[in-house]
Amino acid sequence: MTALHDVQPAPTGGLADGFGRVATDLRVSLTDRCNLRCNYCMPAEGLDWLPTDQTLTDDEVVRLVRIGVEDLGIREVRFTGGEPLLRRGLSDIVRRTTLLRPRPEVSLTTNALGLARTAATLAEAGLDRVNVSLDTIRADVFAQITRRDRLHDVVAGLEAADAAGIGPIKINAVLLRGVNDHLAPELLAWCLERGYQLRIIEQMPLDAQHSWSREGMVTAEEIFASLATAFTLTPDPDHRGSAPAETFMVDGGPARVGVIASVTRPFCGDCDRVRLTADGQVRNCLFAREESDLRAALRGGASDAEIADRWRLAMVTKRPGHGIDDTTFLQPTRPMSAIGG
Ligand code: SAM
Repeated sequence: MTALHDVQPAPTGGLADGFGRVATDLRVSLTDRCNLRCNYCMPAEGLDWLPTDQTLTDDEVVRLVRIGVEDLGIREVRFTGGEPLLRRGLSDIVRRTTLLRPRPEVSLTTNALGLARTAATLAEAGLDRVNVSLDTIRADVFAQITRRDRLHDVVAGLEAADAAGIGPIKINAVLLRGVNDHLAPELLAWCLERGYQLRIIEQMPLDAQHSWSREGMVTAEEIFASLATAFTLTPDPDHRGSAPAETFMVDGGPARVGVIASVTRPFCGDCDRVRLTADGQVRNCLFAREESDLRAALRGGASDAEIADRWRLAMVTKRPGHGIDDTTFLQPTRPMSAIGG
């Protein structure tokens, strides 16, 4: 008997899935290590980090990104982690990515520790945009959430990114009940004063400790209610497209705030993202339970065309939605820090 995969032609072209979505936005994790210990992300003692020999080298990362851009229609590349600033070759990887054609937009998601030192080099390497994670501007609450007293470093990193002309600067915040949820208006006011765009993200079931609960998370409705105590929010007339954030005009605009309601208002139908982990596994969804091993192909001597085929095939099984609300939902084995947020 012929197996189904023997009779189906291998997909060609870009990274299309079975539901008509095409991935053009690649999130690349450069390391699973982090120098913060946000309590909603990982335990105080950290995690078992990937061994060096399993982590893609700079050349391997750039080769996969090149195949993505040249052969598979990737138009945006975001480097993340773990903490991508911990990756020694980051500026070189950024520079080599910006030399690809068509030139992709290149951005970074970071906690900004060390950005004060590296922002100018990254800007020179061609980095277009940065998203900085910052859940509060109160030093004591920051230390409580991250288990590190480093708020001053984040603020210095943001100022350096701004001075280096990397922009627009977006701030990503997660609200935790009873910890910083009542501080959302203060954080928004701080961002507005500095021209940073705040996006508040619903907490997702991706923590290493598996302690997330639907009842415990702060919902988009609660986020709106909290912000409405100090600001008037009106829907953004601009088209949202595939952006994860639903944006609102603040006090009539032009300033905006975004809410990423992955749990209560999922946007999977418009998803255009695909992820590559630091050890070279393609994930077609943050919540995927299967991965496709591109590192083995790379190190086994596969050609660019063979790697591109394997990557296209990895998209075919992308599910229509993340399924958090399904009774059969199982949290992925890898936590957010090892997938690349
Ligand atoms: N270290 C970098 C940083 O801090 O931006 C990149 C990796 S970090 C995992 C990326 C983002 O994921 C951060 O904004 C963090 O707050 C967020 N995050 C971590 N765990 C999360 C969860 N369970 N739900 C929602 N966001 C989460």
